Amino acid sequence: YSKDHENLRKMLDDRITETFYYAKKYGGENKTDRKVVATHIQNQLISLIGLSSQFSSVDQGEEWRKNSLSTLSQHIQKTIDKLQHPSDCSKAKTLVCNLDKQCGFGCQLHHVAYCFVVAFGEGRMLVMEGDGKEWRYSRSGWQSTFVPVTSCSVKEAVGSDRMASYERNSSSRVVNLPIVDSLRSVPPTLPLSFPSSISDYLLKFHSNPPLFFISQFIWYLMRSNAELQKHLDKEIEKIPFGKGPIVGLQVRRTDKVGTEAAFHDLNEYMEWTEIYFKVQDAKMGKKVERKVFIATDDPTVFKEAKEKFPSYSIYGDIGNANTAQLDSRYTDSSLLGVITDIQLLSHCSHLVCTFSSQVCRMGYELMQVRQSPMGNEFHSLDDIYYFGGQQAHEQIAIEKYTAENPNEIDLEVGDVIGIAGNHWDGFSKGTNRRTNQVGLYPSYKVRENWRIVDFPALPPL
Ligand code: GDP
Repeated sequence: YSKDHENLRKMLDDRITETFYYAKKYGGENKTDRKVVATHIQNQLISLIGLSSQFSSVDQGEEWRKNSLSTLSQHIQKTIDKLQHPSDCSKAKTLVCNLDKQCGFGCQLHHVAYCFVVAFGEGRMLVMEGDGKEWRYSRSGWQSTFVPVTSCSVKEAVGSDRMASYERNSSSRVVNLPIVDSLRSVPPTLPLSFPSSISDYLLKFHSNPPLFFISQFIWYLMRSNAELQKHLDKEIEKIPFGKGPIVGLQVRRTDKVGTEAAFHDLNEYMEWTEIYFKVQDAKMGKKVERKVFIATDDPTVFKEAKEKFPSYSIYGDIGNANTAQLDSRYTDSSLLGVITDIQLLSHCSHLVCTFSSQVCRMGYELMQVRQSPMGNEFHSLDDIYYFGGQQAHEQIAIEKYTAENPNEIDLEVGDVIGIAGNHWDGFSKGTNRRTNQVGLYPSYKVRENWRIVDFPALPPL
C-alpha cells in the first residue's frame, strides 16, 4: 500500500472514532436538543462518506477499475455479437422472442433483455418474431432506431425446423420463449445470476455484478442506428457532461402514481441530490457546482425545479417528456423522447429516482456499461434495484441480531434472508428462510448471497 492510501486510512479511522465519541456522549442525552445532535452526526457522516470515497481514486485505483470493467464489457459484447452473427443462420441454436409485450418502453426492453439472457445462457442466438417489424412503438419497427440484433431473419433462422415451446436445455434447435410470468421452469441464468467464468473478476471491480451483467444485454439492444446517434449527439452536447458531477433525476408520475408507485415530491429528490453534492464537496475539499439533469413524464417538473432551486443549473428537455404515455398513443416522437431521456440519464454521475420505474432502471443499467462506475451511484426513493421476473434476491447474515420490537426479525450468522426492500433508514425488510419470520433487520448486518452460475457461451477473460 502506498503512503497516500495509508494516510487516508488513518484519517478515516480517526474520524470514525471521533464520530463515535460524539454519538456516545450526546446521542442518548435527553437534555441536548435531538435535532442539533442529529444534524451534527449527519454532517460528520457526510464528511466520512466523502473521505471514504477518496479511496476509490487513490493510487490510480479508479482508472484501473474503470479500464478493467471496460475490458470486460468489450469481452462480453464481442461474445454476444459472435453468437448473434452465426456463419449459417439455419444451423444456429435459436431462441425466438416476441418483441411486442403489451407495456411501456422500459418494460418491453426488459422483456427482450430477459429473452436475450435466457438465449445467451443456452448458447442460442436471439431473434425477434417478425424481425422486430411489428412494434407498437414505431411503425417502422425496431430498426427505425436501433441496430438489428442479428443478421439472420426469423425465416432463415427457423428454416424448416419445428419451433418448440421453451423448456430448459431443450434439444430442439429452435425454441420460442413465453413471457416470464408464464415460464414453467425458471432458467438458472435469469437475473440476478451472473457467469462463473467472470465472477472473480467482476466481484473484484464492481459492487453489483448481476446489475453489470444484465446491463450488457440492454446495452447491446439499445445500440443506436446512425440517425438516432446523430440526434443523441446533439442532445448530449447541450449538457456539460464530463465537466463536474451531474445528478440525473428521473421523476415518474402520470399513470404510475397511485397504481404502481407512490407520489414523490420534487423536494424529496432534491434533498437526496443535495446530500450527494455535500459528499462531493467533502470529497473534493471545495464547493462543487450544483447541476441536475431531469427526465420525466411530467412536464411541470421543469418549471417547479427552476423556481424552487435557483442555486441549481437545471438541464433536460421538456420536449422529451412523454405526456402521451397511454398505450394506444405511442408515436415515433414519444419513442425518441424516452430513448433520449434514458441515454442522457446514463451519462450522469449519479441518479436519484424511483427504481420502481423501468425507465430509471434502464438509465442506470446503461450507465454501468457506459461509465464503468463502482455500482452504487444512485439513490432510489422506493425499491432497491431489481430485474422484473428475477429469481429471489437473497442476502446472508454476517452478524447476529436480536429483534427489538415486533416489526423486527432475529438473525443468526449464516442465515439466508430473502430481501424484499431497503427502507433507506438503516433497515431492510425480508424473510429469514430459517425461521420464516418476516420483518425488519439492520441492513449492515448482511451481505449479498450472489447467484453464480455457468454460462458456457462466455469464456473467461
Ligand atoms: P415504468 O412504467 O416507469 O416502469 O416504465 P415503462 O417504460 O414500462 O413505461 C413508462 C412509459 O412512460 C415509457 O415508455 C415512456 O413513454 C413514459 N415515461 C416514463 N418516464 C419517462 C421519462 O422520464 N421520460 C420520458 N420521455 N418518458 C417517460
